[in-house]
Amino acid sequence: MKLHLDWSAYETAGQGDAYAGIPATGGDFAKAVAVCISDKQCQRKPKGVMCPSFRATDDVAQSPGGRVQVLKAALNGELGESAFAGKALAEAMELCVGCKGCKRECANQVDMAAIKIEYQAQRNEKQGVSLRERLIADLPQQLHHHVFMRSIIRWRNRSSWLAKLGEVFLGISAKRKLPEPSAAPYEAPAFSTAVIKDDRAVILFVDTFSNHFEPEIAQAAHEVLSAAGYHVSTLLPAANDDEPERALCCGRTYLSLGQVEQAKREARRMQLALRSALAAGTPIVGLEPSCILSLRDDHLKLGLGDEAVALSKQVYLFEEFIAREHDRKRLTLDLKPLPPGKTLVHGHCHQKAVGAMKSLRKVLRMIPELDFEFIESSCCGMAGSFGLEAEHADISMQMAELDLLPALRASPDAAILANGFSCRHQIREGVERNARHVALLLRDALKEKTPC
Ligand code: SF4
Ligand code: SF4
Repeated sequence: MKLHLDWSAYETAGQGDAYAGIPATGGDFAKAVAVCISDKQCQRKPKGVMCPSFRATDDVAQSPGGRVQVLKAALNGELGESAFAGKALAEAMELCVGCKGCKRECANQVDMAAIKIEYQAQRNEKQGVSLRERLIADLPQQLHHHVFMRSIIRWRNRSSWLAKLGEVFLGISAKRKLPEPSAAPYEAPAFSTAVIKDDRAVILFVDTFSNHFEPEIAQAAHEVLSAAGYHVSTLLPAANDDEPERALCCGRTYLSLGQVEQAKREARRMQLALRSALAAGTPIVGLEPSCILSLRDDHLKLGLGDEAVALSKQVYLFEEFIAREHDRKRLTLDLKPLPPGKTLVHGHCHQKAVGAMKSLRKVLRMIPELDFEFIESSCCGMAGSFGLEAEHADISMQMAELDLLPALRASPDAAILANGFSCRHQIREGVERNARHVALLLRDALKEKTPC
């Protein structure tokens, strides 16, 4: 079995343990599957926030441990030669939304989100990639090369027959609105693109979602970091990049659909652009949790060498960087109170997976008099494109209804904070209210605006 991801970190997992139950094929990937000890902790009630697919279906087959059983059977040859293109594995893996709840909460840190990427890559190799998966994964390219994509998405959202056509031919749910791109992508402030080498230098990575959909978040982050005294450079492609005009992307859309080679191509572009910053130790700050977790975690499985390791250690979520610098007494922000009222906070699963909720709490405490409350919830159910897919639209909403949407409805006047792009879209769909990124809150709370 030729593996698509680098699973060598699991090389010694279960070695010498007669009960590890390492499957007969699959090499280090099989060992990553076998770290599950079948203690069924992920199938208990009440169940905290782990595994939204199990919580929504109440079916143990849809828990991390349930999936492991089918994966082991496949790797032991019990499901036939084409197990990775077969129905049993497809059913086991289909509702995993890649939230990494298991990696964070399971005592053995089963990383089902990464296992699903390998599964999808194996399946793609055997079955090919559907038009829907190709279109969704290619979104960063589509939005760059085809300006009309922005208008098509807006038309589709306003026309029920276009939405129905999209469901019939692409499998995109007609019940769901698509996130609408902004009129134009993010434009880096003209003097902010050169890397400045000093101990107040910071590089802002503007991901695909901030770039094409919500550039105001990147602008706000730039403004806040500048107000805090940092010299902010926006990360742009290297001069010798094959596509120097196309914005950089971490490859998240490819990775989450098992298109590993395309994700590697995007990751290499980022490495090229960051070469001198990585050598200089300049911090890299990003806004979208799933993109930052890709850089910090998933990219380590792409076999891209030492620079990927260096990047994983140098990249921060916006709130992590603000909290870290505040703790080190290197950062002061002159902030005023925001308009009164409660703010409910929904954490993106990947924010929780990297332990960034603590940083977010610290940052929110910096805003005078802010009355905020964290919602205890698992994945919002949107999970990238999952909630937009015709066959998953309903279960996606059931996941949102587990905790998130009831909590929002219970406080109809509260402001909502959600740092995840998909989460904000799911909230808009579920309760017709707009959620905001913490960078916008901090920007609004600045006493004095700094031009950037
Ligand atoms: S996935 Fe983790 S919690 Fe679930 S059965 Fe396996 S070891 Fe236990
Ligand atoms: S990644 Fe999330 S949805 Fe998938 S098995 Fe783990 S907890 Fe469940």
